[in-house]
Amino acid sequence: MLAVIKFLSEVWSIGAESGTNALRRQIALSNQVGILGAMATLPYQVFYLLYDIGVYWAVFSLNLVFVVFYLSVVLCNLVGRHSWARDLALLTACTQIFVVTLLIGSAAGVQLFYFSIGAVLALVYSRLNAWRFWLQSAGIGSLFIISHFLFTPTRALTPVPSPYVEIMFGGSVLGVLTLSAVVAYLYRGAIDQAESELTLNNRKLITLSATDKLTGLANRRKLDETLTLEWDRMRRNGQPLSFIMCDVDYFKIYNDHLGHQAGDICLQEVASALQGALARPGDLVARYGGEEFAVVLPNTGAQGAHQVAETLRQTVGALRIPHVPEQGVAFLSISLGVSSADQSMLGATPDKLLRKADEALYIAKATGRNQVVFLPLRAESANAEG
Ligand code: GH3
Ligand code: MG
Ligand code: MG
Repeated sequence: MLAVIKFLSEVWSIGAESGTNALRRQIALSNQVGILGAMATLPYQVFYLLYDIGVYWAVFSLNLVFVVFYLSVVLCNLVGRHSWARDLALLTACTQIFVVTLLIGSAAGVQLFYFSIGAVLALVYSRLNAWRFWLQSAGIGSLFIISHFLFTPTRALTPVPSPYVEIMFGGSVLGVLTLSAVVAYLYRGAIDQAESELTLNNRKLITLSATDKLTGLANRRKLDETLTLEWDRMRRNGQPLSFIMCDVDYFKIYNDHLGHQAGDICLQEVASALQGALARPGDLVARYGGEEFAVVLPNTGAQGAHQVAETLRQTVGALRIPHVPEQGVAFLSISLGVSSADQSMLGATPDKLLRKADEALYIAKATGRNQVVFLPLRAESANAEG
């Protein structure tokens, strides 16, 4: 059964390769009405043909015409006439049910197929117009009432005798249930797919909004978020938290002599070196801005943070990126400022920790560059100025 539905769903995707989601749904649904309508006609045709074609030639021939109309729906979609296809599908189905019930009588239950048509009405229009929906539903309801109550077997032109009429009624009920179930199944699939696409796109957006475009590192927003989060964690679990601020040395000279593009490539190299040098999955390195990077080190005290900073400095130095020797700088280096906080520092804030690391970086720059400077974030200074 699933394999049949899969095959059919490929057939009724004909003409639905492009366009908006709503249009693709409309195309698929009109194709479904066309193909399933033609298929549902088949068992009735077999009966007329085998039982007595002499009596049932009229309904048999008309059904052949309806099948041609049903298949034309797919053709219309194929040539891009999607509105025609949709209107033709609904018109053909409604007319066929009406005419066939008129000919063979309501006891065969063909008018029940109006329920399937009613079920797809809300879905077949790409833009749902409430007025049109209720008007069409009322129209279909009226057609059902007329067929059901007026086209009684006694009034029918070529009624189906017992017990075939009972069998046919059972077949009609089964057909209506199957059609409604197939449409519901397909729509469930479409909803599931749309939902997973949405979830995937949301995840991509979240990653994008936290990523620096040039280096692929976390951006400033992600840094702020992580620092606040880790600060709260440090407050709860008592483990220290450290912060490193790095800045590329003499980068303006590098840019001025080698060009902005070379500068960008250099920043990418430094970024991946910094990222690669951090061992713990909880550590975060971010691009703070321009040629400045920041590192958050959860569960890391002063000594550990100093060590990490020294490793970062050496890692970047080991890249041996040629600088501008004429200006007295042989290879690219970074300066780093480090600070640490722990639970005992009442009144301290993430911002004060960051500023302390920045202060340390300033000293590293002022006293020669290519070095690590640590400044403690003391409880008393945290309470006072930071
Ligand atoms: P110091 O050792 O004191 O840090 O000197 P510096 O030249 O690195 O410092 P300064 O802050 O004066 O210059 C930083 C330069 O970094 C300025 C700008 O040309 C460069 N820069 C900032 N952002 C980017 C970027 O995204 N790409 C490139 N190529 N260069 C950048
Ligand atoms: Mg700078
Ligand atoms: Mg710099």
